[in-house]
Amino acid sequence: MSKIAIIGSGFSGISAAAYLSTAGHDVHVFEKNSVAGGRARQFNTDSGYLFDMGPSWYWMPGVFEKFFNDFGFSTSDFYELKLLNPSFDVVFGKNDTMSVPENFEQLCDLFESIEAGSAARLVSFMNEAEYKYKTGIENLVYKPGLSITEYANIDLIKGAIRLQVFSSFSEHVRKYFSHPKLIALMGFPVLFLGAMPQDTPALYSLMNYAGLKLGTWYPIGGFGKVIDGMISVAEKNGAVFHLDATAEKIGIEENQARYLMVNGEKFLCDAVIASADYHHVESKLLPSAYRNYRENYWEKKTFAPSCLIFYLGINKKIKSLNHHTLFFDEDLDQHSKDIYKKPQWPAKPLFYVCCPSKSDDHVAPKGHENIFLLMPIAPGLKDTEEIREKYFQIMISRLENHTKEKILAHIDFKRSYCVKDFISDYNSYKGNAYGLANTLMQTAVLKPKLRNKKVRNIFYTGQLTVPGPGVPPSIISGKIAAEQLLKHLNKSNLEVTI
Ligand SMILES: Cc1cc2nc3c(=O)[nH]c(=O)nc-3n(C[C@H](O)[C@H](O)[C@H](O)COP(=O)(O)OP(=O)(O)OC[C@H]3O[C@@H](n4cnc5c(N)ncnc54)[C@H](O)[C@@H]3O)c2cc1C
Repeated sequence: MSKIAIIGSGFSGISAAAYLSTAGHDVHVFEKNSVAGGRARQFNTDSGYLFDMGPSWYWMPGVFEKFFNDFGFSTSDFYELKLLNPSFDVVFGKNDTMSVPENFEQLCDLFESIEAGSAARLVSFMNEAEYKYKTGIENLVYKPGLSITEYANIDLIKGAIRLQVFSSFSEHVRKYFSHPKLIALMGFPVLFLGAMPQDTPALYSLMNYAGLKLGTWYPIGGFGKVIDGMISVAEKNGAVFHLDATAEKIGIEENQARYLMVNGEKFLCDAVIASADYHHVESKLLPSAYRNYRENYWEKKTFAPSCLIFYLGINKKIKSLNHHTLFFDEDLDQHSKDIYKKPQWPAKPLFYVCCPSKSDDHVAPKGHENIFLLMPIAPGLKDTEEIREKYFQIMISRLENHTKEKILAHIDFKRSYCVKDFISDYNSYKGNAYGLANTLMQTAVLKPKLRNKKVRNIFYTGQLTVPGPGVPPSIISGKIAAEQLLKHLNKSNLEVTI
């Protein structure tokens, strides 16, 4: 049995803890915050609201199911899932809102009503996307990305052209659809990947399959229920979670990590899995001689956005608002340029509103709504109360126009969250929210490596390494890091015994 220290209790850290403890190791997770879950933490208010702080779109349900199945459980042992219908709404302008149905035939009808002939093209687009999704899940995402030879599988080589790794997502969509609404709708899922559609490989149309075909789900009680379920699995197998426990240094002796300095005390260990933000671990916890990357490596990387968030309690019900609403009533290209090309606060922002109290009675007092406003911005922007408030007013006024209801006057709880909070709460590089963008040059083997090249018993996991940003990839990342560490500890296969 080896003693393993894991830094951080986000999805990736908890996932790694579950696999390693189940394999019989003595696993300790150190989390700087007082609540586990990382970017997916929750907070309660005295007035009875329960807010998910980060993720709200439960996509790729199979990945969550597979995680729990690996330990002899099912998601339903820990939480109840609800399939949302409509999946989400897209606001294109005044009195111009598209409700995206969960049912694929209805989605085809919707496409046809917007652009003649597009229903048939949607079917063929989705067939391609399904192929990419299945190939991706079966052959790509569970690979550690340490060497190009991992991808030298005959199916992958045969399918390389069909996978469209080298062509642009934006061009791919435009081959099928020409109406701007359909282009915007199909482009939205890659925003999850944090890059402009032009810079995203067409491979990632697999996200359209995930989002539009596999359904948008919601865990009753919020994402915190998923975190709780995963922690129970890890704890059942002996993992210990230490909260308010800040890792300050990884102690190296003879090119091996020998201890973690936590709140000023030495915790001796045989290996370290770092699930905190990669840049923080390298620049603050490791001496420069043992880092995989220098500072200028990070400066050249394309980061996924940061965001400005408002958590709001509303003391009434809002009739014409669904669970997820995307405000695409301004120019997507211009906002994307303000994030990626010339980082600045956007003149005319797009934003997103989540209202989980539409689907869940647990997250707001009876007769109230729980609302989350999110506006993506470039990481590293100046973040002041005045700027936050300016954009709050813009978003609330557009929300009031859309719902045709007074909302501002009914707010009985308000908390904002932005760049400075991402830095202080998560040690996030420039306050990024979702890690690295999935551009071609930052995919698979080109992502920051999962293993320290100089100190062989340090492994990295989480949204900044393989396979990438998002909850399902972070869960997978924890599993891959655990498998690699187990190999290092002379166990050739990860065998989960319950
Ligand atoms: C606002 C927002 C909305 C999102 N929406 C979605 C969505 O709808 N769907 C989706 O799939 N994904 C979404 N994501 C992305 C998803 O939440 C993340 O990709 C995922 O949660 C990242 O998990 P992680 O384990 O890599 O990192 P984190 O969750 O950041 O975990 C790292 C942990 O390390 C801790 N830590 C840092 N430094 C130290 C230290 N020195 N010592 C101890 N602990 C430390 C941090 O406190 C943190 O708890 C969203 C993210 C955000 C921020």
